[in-house]
Amino acid sequence: MKALVYEHDGQHTWKDVPDARIQEPTDIVVQVTATTICGSDLHILKGDVPEVTDGTILGHEAIGIVTEGGSSVRRVKPGDRVLVSCITSCGSCEQCRRQKYGLCTGGGGWILGHTIDGVQAEYARVPFADTSVYPVPEHLSDEQVLFLTDVLPTAFEVGVLAGRLAPGETMAVIGAGPIGIGVMMTAKLLSPSRIIALDMSDARLERSLTFGATDTVNNAGLTAVEILERIGLPDGVDLAVEAVGTPATFELAADLVAAGGRIANIGVHGKPATLHMERLWTRDITITMGLVDTHTIPQLLRLVQSGQLHPELLASHEFALADTTEAYEAFGNVAASNAMKVFMQAVPAAVPPAMAGAN
Ligand SMILES: [Zn+2]
Ligand SMILES: [Zn+2]
Repeated sequence: MKALVYEHDGQHTWKDVPDARIQEPTDIVVQVTATTICGSDLHILKGDVPEVTDGTILGHEAIGIVTEGGSSVRRVKPGDRVLVSCITSCGSCEQCRRQKYGLCTGGGGWILGHTIDGVQAEYARVPFADTSVYPVPEHLSDEQVLFLTDVLPTAFEVGVLAGRLAPGETMAVIGAGPIGIGVMMTAKLLSPSRIIALDMSDARLERSLTFGATDTVNNAGLTAVEILERIGLPDGVDLAVEAVGTPATFELAADLVAAGGRIANIGVHGKPATLHMERLWTRDITITMGLVDTHTIPQLLRLVQSGQLHPELLASHEFALADTTEAYEAFGNVAASNAMKVFMQAVPAAVPPAMAGAN
């Protein structure tokens, strides 16, 4: 089979590798029909994620068809079409029992394309299948559900739910990339009165308006006070969501939040940010952060089914699965491509003959 393999010095190659196979009775193998690239894949290529070793297959977001199941897998069978969560859940450790799958201590968590081979491949092994994949309703397309594997649960759980957004509140979303856009899409489910998108790219801000932003501000060169004046909320916003991951954007979130408000950090930080305790300590500010658990995938699937959520709109570019190099170029060079999420699809003819008629 072919797969996208991480090689030393940040290189990656689409090449022949040994076939994915069952290693534990709780594993399944899926034939990947659709996958995408995440910001964390770019961090891996930059060398920011040292636990990823040379030769690892990248990718942690996929839709696929089960081709083989281990002897103890009960909930899915060959022929089933499944959504593979970016987070693997052992289903039985203390954290998994509390739905904190991202913190799984039983061998799960973020492992795909990280500590084990991932899903940017023709086939992939998925551990703990019973608690880590979700059957896809027949009438939903791969494109409609692919972004429920990571970006939308991350935006919803780590941004909107952790930030305890309530109807009628005001919120600022700092960073209008895929995660920020996902925050705007899922925040609408809770009816905030204002969703203010902040970014330094006018193209991204323009796009934010179609995903639920009520106001946009290009914050290049503006102080927090100037931003709040411009949007007519001098006391600040109830919730500031940080979706970039730099010290400056985190500190901006802290400066935008009103007394009694919340800062929900989603951004992946590589450097320390300054926390101005001297200004914040009397103001009852809550700061949250964390890795996604993906416990909202079933809830989000129901919202897609009922037509209240349209994740497919996040796809700005489409590629064949074999064209991963081009897909990485587009996703990695947003300034030139204006990419949001890439949708990579296996050529339909790739369904193996053994699967024909199976169901
Ligand atoms: Zn991801
Ligand atoms: Zn667990």
